[in-house]
Amino acid sequence: MEAEGLCSICGRPAKLHTCHLCGRLVCSQCMDHRKGMCIKCAGGKEISSSGSKDTGVFK
Ligand SMILES: [Zn+2]
Ligand SMILES: [Zn+2]
Repeated sequence: MEAEGLCSICGRPAKLHTCHLCGRLVCSQCMDHRKGMCIKCAGGKEISSSGSKDTGVFK
């Protein structure tokens, strides 16, 4: 669903998308469309599809 409003992250008026994780409305620039979640939930930065680093294990 898209709606016009203020982005919850950057505060700019734009078409908003709903983060599937936290449910907040964010603009397309603050949305990680691949993951379907906002950049906050996705990690805060836009990471160009690397995913090759080992994750999930804390030593
Ligand atoms: Zn935004
Ligand atoms: Zn989120």
